[in-house]
Amino acid sequence: MATSAAKTPSDLVVEGAAHAPDDVRGVIRWATERFGDRLALALSLGIEDTIMLHLLDEAAAAVGVRPRVFTLDTGRLPPESYEMLERLRDRYRLPIEVFFPRAEAVEQLYRLKGPLSFYNSVEDRKECCGIRKVEPLGRALAGAEAWLVGLRRAHGPTRAEVQRVERDIGNGGLWKLSPLIALSDEETWALAKALDVPVHPLHGRGYPSIGCAPCTRAVAPGDPPRAGRWWWEDPDQKECGLHRRGSTG
Ligand code: SF4
Repeated sequence: MATSAAKTPSDLVVEGAAHAPDDVRGVIRWATERFGDRLALALSLGIEDTIMLHLLDEAAAAVGVRPRVFTLDTGRLPPESYEMLERLRDRYRLPIEVFFPRAEAVEQLYRLKGPLSFYNSVEDRKECCGIRKVEPLGRALAGAEAWLVGLRRAHGPTRAEVQRVERDIGNGGLWKLSPLIALSDEETWALAKALDVPVHPLHGRGYPSIGCAPCTRAVAPGDPPRAGRWWWEDPDQKECGLHRRGSTG
């Protein structure tokens, strides 16, 4: 990893970005060669992550390393996500690790606020995301030097500033890589078709974004891609904490 006490975090972002290619396959191959077994892919089971899994599986076999692939089972996923997980497990060589929330934290949340507290307020929703997603993510990323995420600027205002390569200060300063960051919806689907990757069943039913069942719904044609996530909240709040903009760059 390119660390140096004399360099600022911004210097390091520039350094990392300067070496990363622009194309999706190139970024993933570069990351696989540079970080090897200490590269991790966070899999939400949506189309962006499936594209990355396909290319990472290919790159890992070519380079001869074993990057980690993980998904977070929040306990509130729709049944279609488990079908999708099975398909990906069957199709690709890289094993998929699953991380769950701490049982005692979920039990306490239910005891104090019931099973649907996320509808009460943004704070309560973020509390649930914190227990079911953010805390398990921290465990999932332990030991990683870099993680691959499926963020795209076309997803909406909360992702407008994301860089292809940046430092993730919110997660200990590891590298955060977004190979698909500049792709439009059309380009993303064209790439998925060209690679012939498995597609989550809910994408075909009006769900551009895949998440927990009680917090995700289909959107109308022309609506922003993340309009179906926490639809009762302000669009500027539509993040779960996994992608806090504490990153540099
Ligand atoms: Fe909880 Fe909804 Fe966040 Fe899932 S998306 S962790 S159910 S608040």
